[in-house]
Amino acid sequence: MSSLQPVRGTHDLMFDDIRRHRLVQAKFAALAAHYGYSEITTPIFEATDVFARTLGDTTDIVTKEMYTFETKGGESVTLRPEGTAGVARAFISEGLTQQTPLKFFYHGPMFRHERPQKGRQRQFHQIGAELLGVPGPQGDVEVIALADHTLRELNLSGHITLELNSLGDTESRAAYRAVLIDFLFGHREKLSAESRERLEKNPLRVLDSKEPADKEIVVSAPRFPDYLNQTSRDFFKAVQDGLNNLGIFFKLNSSLVRGLDYYSHTAFEFTTEALGAQGTVLAGGRYDGLIKQMGGPPTAGIGWAAGVERLAMLLSDLPPLPRPIAMIPVGESEDAIAQKLSHRLRNSGFNIDIGYSGNMGKRMKRANKLNARVALIIGEDEVKQSVVTVRQLDSGEQSRVAMADLESHLDLYR
Ligand code: ATP
Ligand code: MG
Repeated sequence: MSSLQPVRGTHDLMFDDIRRHRLVQAKFAALAAHYGYSEITTPIFEATDVFARTLGDTTDIVTKEMYTFETKGGESVTLRPEGTAGVARAFISEGLTQQTPLKFFYHGPMFRHERPQKGRQRQFHQIGAELLGVPGPQGDVEVIALADHTLRELNLSGHITLELNSLGDTESRAAYRAVLIDFLFGHREKLSAESRERLEKNPLRVLDSKEPADKEIVVSAPRFPDYLNQTSRDFFKAVQDGLNNLGIFFKLNSSLVRGLDYYSHTAFEFTTEALGAQGTVLAGGRYDGLIKQMGGPPTAGIGWAAGVERLAMLLSDLPPLPRPIAMIPVGESEDAIAQKLSHRLRNSGFNIDIGYSGNMGKRMKRANKLNARVALIIGEDEVKQSVVTVRQLDSGEQSRVAMADLESHLDLYR
């Protein structure tokens, strides 16, 4: 592999791609603030334990996907594969545990060593929200409402469905796990090798398998909702009532499980048919066990994360870029005055582009390519008379304007 290629599974983001990312981030940030969430950014690497202990040593992320390395000081650190563990670590280490409820949102790169394909990178980006210290179902409803609103704000809700399940409390999960293991053992021979392995370590994950052979078996597996105890049923009903109350449509999916061990009660995903196999754009759930497992006081938590690349692929047209004003010195001797005038106009808030090289024709071409609204042409004659030729690029109309009056004349094009 040439070292001049980006590392497999990583991408450069530029032009429209980065604009799509920024659009997703900006709309989400504005909306999250509107819901009372404040921004947090945690380091992109943490002590390996932060992830290994919390994600559980049987999840795909921990067993196969982490970028872990030893520092020169001999510490084991890991590039963050997801955002929740870092937020939970910060909640404890920043001494915030007595300040609940706390509402955080974040965005940033995540790293997972998995097979790159469409919608699946090794460095990707997530936006996410976490609500800490709200044990009741209103919390679930709020974070799901924020997710739903974010997708609507991006005009994506048309082809995205909210799927909902409950993983119940610890007691319900233990009961379900036992019957599920029994059932899966009965079909052991037909399961994929990977699922046979999961059956030993993390049987719930078999429900999540994408292998056709596994999917066929899973269809007739015992269903989670049938093993929920009364407390868990009441909780799940309250979440559904809350969503109905807000007019948020959802579909129940009893085989929806989250890959991470610390989830309980509500699990949800927003999925689309538009992205092929990588159809989950946003996923989340309740993780009441996490903070305690990390060494903090028992604290309820619920949150979600969405893949920015997947959202970006779904976005329709970007809003047009602001149209610049093109500064066009006719010859080298007008360069200095063009620079000075550009500086003055930029300081007054105008969007000025200077092409820097080529003849007048080449510079006009660039101005058109940038969709400039106006070109400011400065030749020898203009300099002599202290004027600028202002050409409207849509109509071709042009007029001469005194250099001193440019700001007020251009006010229209700000
Ligand atoms: P998948 O089943 O697609 O592997 P996951 O269960 O591993 O997803 P989560 O850990 O729940 O995903 O992450 C939340 C979201 O982040 C996903 O729904 C997806 O949009 C995005 N995501 C996860 N992994 C990747 C990746 N490798 N590349 C791009 N986006 C990703
Ligand atoms: Mg994954």
